[in-house]
Amino acid sequence: MAKPTDTLEWNYSPSLESTNHIRLKQQYGLFINNEWVAPSSKKYFSSTNPATEEVLAEIAWANEADVDNAVKAARKAYETVWSKLSGAERGKYIYRIARMMQERAREFAVIESMDCGKPIRESRDVDVPLACNHFFYYAGWADKLAYAMPHKKPEALGVAGQIIPWNFPLLMAAWKIAPALAAGNTVVLKPAETTSLTALKLAEIIKDSGLPPGVVNIVTGHGDTGAAIVNHPDIDKIAFTGSTNVGKIIQRAIAGTNKKSTLELGGKSANIIFDDAPIDQAVEGIVNGIFFNQGHVCCAGSRLFVQENVADLVIKKLKARMESLYVGNPLDKNTDIGAINSKEQLETIEKYIRLGKEEGAAIYQSACEIPSKGYFCRPTLFTEVSQSHRITQEEIFGPVLTIQTFRTIDEVIQKANNTPFGLAAGVWTDKGSRIFNLTTKLKAGVVWANTYNKFDPTSPFGGYKESGFGREGGLHGLGAYLK
Ligand code: NAP
Ligand code: MG
Repeated sequence: MAKPTDTLEWNYSPSLESTNHIRLKQQYGLFINNEWVAPSSKKYFSSTNPATEEVLAEIAWANEADVDNAVKAARKAYETVWSKLSGAERGKYIYRIARMMQERAREFAVIESMDCGKPIRESRDVDVPLACNHFFYYAGWADKLAYAMPHKKPEALGVAGQIIPWNFPLLMAAWKIAPALAAGNTVVLKPAETTSLTALKLAEIIKDSGLPPGVVNIVTGHGDTGAAIVNHPDIDKIAFTGSTNVGKIIQRAIAGTNKKSTLELGGKSANIIFDDAPIDQAVEGIVNGIFFNQGHVCCAGSRLFVQENVADLVIKKLKARMESLYVGNPLDKNTDIGAINSKEQLETIEKYIRLGKEEGAAIYQSACEIPSKGYFCRPTLFTEVSQSHRITQEEIFGPVLTIQTFRTIDEVIQKANNTPFGLAAGVWTDKGSRIFNLTTKLKAGVVWANTYNKFDPTSPFGGYKESGFGREGGLHGLGAYLK
């Protein structure tokens, strides 16, 4: 019999991705009308590498006047060029952007890992290919809108204001920009303040692709820049991905206006393991569900429910697997868990870990070493938790898992749905009928069966309850940008 993982000795040898091929400017302006312009405030802020705390570049801080310029550019481009082009012509531009992104995939992946802290394996194998695929997928729809929406006359909305978070910077930009352009809208996009660099690299590609000026504008900045987009009177649609708190602020701000909106917000998703599940696969699924991308995943499987009779086995295997996870340099191809995106986010996670202990839950953290510099967190799990604990109710957005047990299907459905959120869920069982039973009863936008965190551009994604409304991806995602 093989030895348990925690008694094996592994010889570790680093395998660092090189950064020689990366070109970053010291300072980035705003991308308006296909030009790089200085912010009217003359203010810049630093984007840092969360694994080393080194400054990567200075980023322009857009104020209301800059956002107004970007919206004017987008409006003019919409009226004079983009709305006049045929869908086939729009599609050609979108395909070109997708191909150019693919050609520079390695550069995108390395910059994403440096700026965001996620392991290179993920940015290389997940974020960047999926971002390219979103452009390819929606390029294909641009000339088929009438087929996509039969018996209707689909029309673009106009200018879309788009605001994205820091956990999947390039991928979220692709989720937003690709369907908007395919449907014939023009765009003003704001990346998150800690992760603007890949959106700015995308701007370089957009310029090189020959996309008409003003069709895509990228304004960097802080929350006030996002608010200026939300409150601008000449924006037809707000597409927001981020926290439930900011989502509520946005909803209040646009109430009573003609702005359409889609809000993709937080989550506290349940991952449910039945006793007939393939246990080893399920343990991989749990690890993938919560430790993937440092738990910086809106749909992270952060609440684990295990059927009582296999709970000891699952927890034992999970702990052994956690011991083999490597936490460290995001640019090392061995790394499983990279850096937490910012000091503030690390403090939030540490606050919840303290809270879990104070609430009386039992904590287990892997014994791995973590780098002394940068923002890192050991994979953490809590047992002996109840539904009322704050760590089982609130979104932590870090590599922290709570584990509860259940006996019956009805009990686990009730427990899984007992949350203000409803973004995603996972079900692990051998029985197809049980999967279908649960998928109809779990109040979650996506339910994965015998897998977790799988994405595809053809498949709509979005939440119930406080996880927001509207769908991104697939035909639903296209419809969100059409009248
Ligand atoms: P956040 O604080 O809500 O920020 C999201 C974006 O909104 C950032 O660009 C932010 O700018 C901007 N912003 C902040 N205040 C604003 C305001 N008053 N008006 C307009 N924009 C404003 O969220 P985050 O911490 O970056 O991201 C984590 C959250 O996103 C989590 O809750 C996660 O679940 C959620 N998320 C959801 C999905 C989904 O599809 N449902 C996907 C990914 C993430 P600054 O960065 O400059 O503050
Ligand atoms: Mg950064």
